[in-house]
Amino acid sequence: MIIGMTGGIASGKSTVARAFAALGAPWVDADDVAREVVEPGEPALAEIAERYAHEQGPGVLNDDGTLNRRALREIVFADPAERRWLESVTHPRIRARLVEHLARLEASGAPYVLLVSPLLFESGQSEMADRCLVIDVPEALQIERTAARDDVDEAQARAIVAAQMPRAERLARADDVLDNGGSEEEMRRRVAELDRRYRELTSERSKTC
Ligand code: ADP
Repeated sequence: MIIGMTGGIASGKSTVARAFAALGAPWVDADDVAREVVEPGEPALAEIAERYAHEQGPGVLNDDGTLNRRALREIVFADPAERRWLESVTHPRIRARLVEHLARLEASGAPYVLLVSPLLFESGQSEMADRCLVIDVPEALQIERTAARDDVDEAQARAIVAAQMPRAERLARADDVLDNGGSEEEMRRRVAELDRRYRELTSERSKTC
């Protein structure tokens, strides 16, 4: 069973994923995999480098052959058609790699596995999941935790939150919601409850009669 997990910035995805892992359920992070598919030697990076080889300035590669994310971000930010092209190159590869990672974790005997993705719904990765778990915190707390963790002020944190999928929309698409507005201790208790539930669901699914 694959649990897709998402939430806005600083909602606690990484913290919650670690709490699940401590109970024996491992995770794959879609952001890590998105970085993997554009590492040197990957076909997606070669395609991207070729498309923008004739851009003004240094192009989209750093001197060491790695992707210059900032340069690429500027190009796709300015041109939605380029963004779509980039997604057509990267999304299928990210998806294929996620499937591989998830299958490997499932084969290693995990009771269920988590697919952690900030863009679970926006990217369509939720289709890979059997259930979707949304980590939810009130916006004021989300802004406070973003400002405390990242080097941004409150106004910047507020702007990042405003640019993401609205909280109500995310919640409307959830099968399960974990309220992470309390202490870490409370979060761990809620994770333990969900863990019990997911193990029950997994054993029901594996029954043959
Ligand atoms: P995300 O992965 O969703 O961006 P993180 O797991 O990095 O979020 O959490 C954001 C910040 O909030 C981190 O500094 C983390 O330590 C803190 N945090 C997460 N959950 C709690 C909690 N229940 N109580 C207090 N701080 C928390």
